[in-house]
Amino acid sequence: MMTKMMAGSLGLEEPWYIGGVEFDEKELALHIYVGIRKGAEIACPVCGAQTKRNGYEPRERVWRHGDVMFYPCLVHCRRPKVLCLNCGSVQVNAPFERKNSRFTLLFEGYAMLILADMPIAKAAALLRCDEKSLVKIMRYWVNKAVDGMDLRDVAMLAIDETSFKRGHKYVTLIIDAAKRRVLDVEEGRDAETLKLFAEKLSARGGSPEKITAVTSDMSKSFLPAIAKYFPKAENIIDKFHVKKVLIDALDEVRKAEQKSVADKKGLFRGRRLFMIPKAKLTAEQSAALTEMSKRYPKTGRAYRIVAGLDDFYASRAMDEAEKGFASLYSWMRRCRLKPMKEAAETLMRHKDKILAYFKNRITNAICEGISSMIQAAKRKARGFRNFEGYASMIYLIAGKLQLAVPRPF
Ligand SMILES: [Zn+2]
Repeated sequence: MMTKMMAGSLGLEEPWYIGGVEFDEKELALHIYVGIRKGAEIACPVCGAQTKRNGYEPRERVWRHGDVMFYPCLVHCRRPKVLCLNCGSVQVNAPFERKNSRFTLLFEGYAMLILADMPIAKAAALLRCDEKSLVKIMRYWVNKAVDGMDLRDVAMLAIDETSFKRGHKYVTLIIDAAKRRVLDVEEGRDAETLKLFAEKLSARGGSPEKITAVTSDMSKSFLPAIAKYFPKAENIIDKFHVKKVLIDALDEVRKAEQKSVADKKGLFRGRRLFMIPKAKLTAEQSAALTEMSKRYPKTGRAYRIVAGLDDFYASRAMDEAEKGFASLYSWMRRCRLKPMKEAAETLMRHKDKILAYFKNRITNAICEGISSMIQAAKRKARGFRNFEGYASMIYLIAGKLQLAVPRPF
């Protein structure tokens, strides 16, 4: 019965069979020996013609399989060769293997499940294998799924930039806004990354012409590239990026005020309070904030402007939003806080693209909810030293991939 169970997990069918199972008490590992019946008729792996076995590969190979009773399990096999009239001598692969992998398919399937849920170092410890091997497994299955992505229906994109290796290298993420999944992870943050994605889009059934809306930040490299490569798309500046401009200005105001006041520590300690949106403040925080605003009037003023941006985004229709934008802009210009005045000019330069957010529900929907998903993926990908591993992890977490690897359950 145990043999049957093992054969099942390895996908073995006649003429393959399990010739022996051994528990090594020294190394605490289980060894399974797989053979193929003598005289078995085997189809040629290349052309499918019926052939006969023609010897074996010179040396036995070993694959790591899923643990048995918590003991690591290793599968041994000398795979046969066949002599085909069309193809000559051909090496036959075992049913449980993927070419060039030292792990069985089911082990890889289990590894993919584990990887989606925990940091790679933890996954490696749990699976008792090295991180490098796990990255290889992940890259293989992720790349296969990414290459097979059907991009026919993609019409709305969100473009986000991030970095890996602690701010050294930039990475561009391209997201399907309707399905909320990452479609592409490119190294760099320039026009070239969008060009490459436009090409991938065409290669996988979609079309740059079908893209109706794109959200992005205000980056000088993205904006012209969006117009160039997605000519029919409405370009919307992402709400979160607009907010970031104001939050950064607020932080500059706070830092300057901190230098000029006697109680520097009070402001430094309370700085996070100014980052909480008005609507999310508890009664206690709200009272503390009022107090802080009295003690640090410049930071308090900057905070009220940021809250004003939230009010602007609560506009229900375009005319309301246009009025809101105008009054926010004039408020910022007159506020006597240099960073805020500069932020006002940044907003004005991108006025149309910021207001595009209010055109319809579709453009609105692009901005919502994606950010948190991307943050989760980025957190998970952190710690990868090379770009490929980093990108694979983002795809795995946020790509909603159709993985072809067999799942153990
Ligand atoms: Zn053949």
